[in-house]
Amino acid sequence: MSAFFSRLWICIGLSALALTAFGQKRSDPIGVKVPMPGHHQLVCDWDKDPGCLFSLNPIILSQKDNEIHLAWDFIDTAILWQEKGPELMPLQDYKESIRKAISHEKLTTILKDQRPDQQTSKQPRPAEPSNPEIVKHGIAGAVRPINCLESHLLAYQTSRFDLFEQPTEFHGFILKGQVDDIPLVRVYFVASDQPFPPKPVLVIQHIELLIEAGWQLYGHLHNHYAPAEEFYVGAAAPSQADVHYYKVLVNRFDLQFAFVTNGFQTVEIKAAELGIFNSH
Ligand SMILES: [Zn+2]
Repeated sequence: MSAFFSRLWICIGLSALALTAFGQKRSDPIGVKVPMPGHHQLVCDWDKDPGCLFSLNPIILSQKDNEIHLAWDFIDTAILWQEKGPELMPLQDYKESIRKAISHEKLTTILKDQRPDQQTSKQPRPAEPSNPEIVKHGIAGAVRPINCLESHLLAYQTSRFDLFEQPTEFHGFILKGQVDDIPLVRVYFVASDQPFPPKPVLVIQHIELLIEAGWQLYGHLHNHYAPAEEFYVGAAAPSQADVHYYKVLVNRFDLQFAFVTNGFQTVEIKAAELGIFNSH
């Protein structure tokens, strides 16, 4: 189900070619367009809407070979944030591949080991905890099931490149704003066929403009996976490079939350907690 409302194009002149990844410099305006909005009601019921995110036309910022820079607008409803996201087919296949490769029991143990529990709360905290230990010991960050929006985004990339056979990471920038009194969520999505996502230079330009227009950078989402020798399941914790990147986003755009998902569960980190984590 999707609903289109009025489509308003805001044309704003700014430099693109001279912009660094975080838009430090501006020179000749080239007229980047930020489309506002063609928003959808994201439905997280696979039976009712088998297309889900896949049936919604994204705003295409850039598309070349397998590298995509896209955006979707959604009406901000509780369903987006609903935990235990929908069992979207590409994600189901991915989870099933892991279960077959390492057993259901091993998978359960790995996921449990990523979360704080009563046992770890009784153990002494490491003197210099790693980022996964910071999460595991409940020092900072909170692990919860993957939510609806995250499931859709990961399934989208997984449908392009099988996360089990050819793992890739994507960038997801989640912004919140309001247009005509309608609360909206805009999600920018950047990915390719490579293990690491492309630099989101164009997206950063859009974020600058949206923030100038009163929007908020609510969250940054990306996914983690692990190689076969580490049992496939990605860490539910940020890397040191991730934390460095988040700090830049906080300083520049007042990022509120950082999210890292492995397809099963997601660690959610508040901006104020980032200083607790190890960073480059
Ligand atoms: Zn990462």
